[in-house]
Amino acid sequence: MSLHTEWDNTDVEAAEQSTILNVKDLNIYYSSNHAVQHVSFEIKEKAVTALIGPSGCGKSTFIRSINRMNDNIPICRTDGTIMYGDVDIVNDNIDVTALRSEIGMVFQKPNPFPKSIYVNIAHALRLHGVKNKKELDDKVEQALKDAALWEEVKDRLHSSALSLSGGQQQRLCIARMLAMEPRVLLLDEPAASLDPIATAKIEELIDKWRKNYTIIIVTHNMQQAARVSDSTAFFLNGRLVEYEKTSQLFTNPGEKETEDYISGRFG
Ligand code: ADP
Repeated sequence: MSLHTEWDNTDVEAAEQSTILNVKDLNIYYSSNHAVQHVSFEIKEKAVTALIGPSGCGKSTFIRSINRMNDNIPICRTDGTIMYGDVDIVNDNIDVTALRSEIGMVFQKPNPFPKSIYVNIAHALRLHGVKNKKELDDKVEQALKDAALWEEVKDRLHSSALSLSGGQQQRLCIARMLAMEPRVLLLDEPAASLDPIATAKIEELIDKWRKNYTIIIVTHNMQQAARVSDSTAFFLNGRLVEYEKTSQLFTNPGEKETEDYISGRFG
């Protein structure tokens, strides 16, 4: 399925620098709580963008808006625009399932289905029309390889996903997302519940993917943001305080609030 967005891919290098998501005056409310306030910025294609800031500053709310996950929260209201190609994610009447295939998401806590490893990936592929057994097998294998999980599970594809460790479950959720061949990966603190070794594996994957995907990662871990991202957006109390190249933001922040946060004075 495709949203039929129009892209100018005539020049690969220019495309790598081009804007894939253009956020304009985005506001998100939970009843009267104005959780995201007048946020505007452009997210570059095939780059890693980190969202940092203290707990409760609106990072998750913002990232969820990119693939319309806030639709599931009745008290949540959004205004402003998020342009994705020629589609306005906030206001257009779009096929949300198709959107979520193109803009995949992984959450803090791994959430595999209580089914086999194989079915966790094959289910969505089947829904998207892949019926041929061989094609399904190949796509499941490729997704598990892309998520660096294949070697660990190839002999037990029909075991329950819940028998995997937390880190493996998270990589299974990643494989499930990658099987849909997304353009954009939304990672909401993907390593929050993992140990340092499992965390390092996720960071290695992000590094491997950076040429092929646009990645947006929420993290409260500033070292992680500094390690993995090209650009960083610093949020505070629902506002976007500063958005800069990561090296610049961490060494020479333009705003006093950013400096206070990265030097550990609050949050
Ligand atoms: P962060 O990801 O930076 O920790 P969140 O986006 O989770 O911040 O939260 C931003 C604000 O929105 C907070 O005030 C939080 O209490 C509120 N909030 C987040 N999720 C919900 C929800 N499902 N229902 C009501 N309020 C929410």
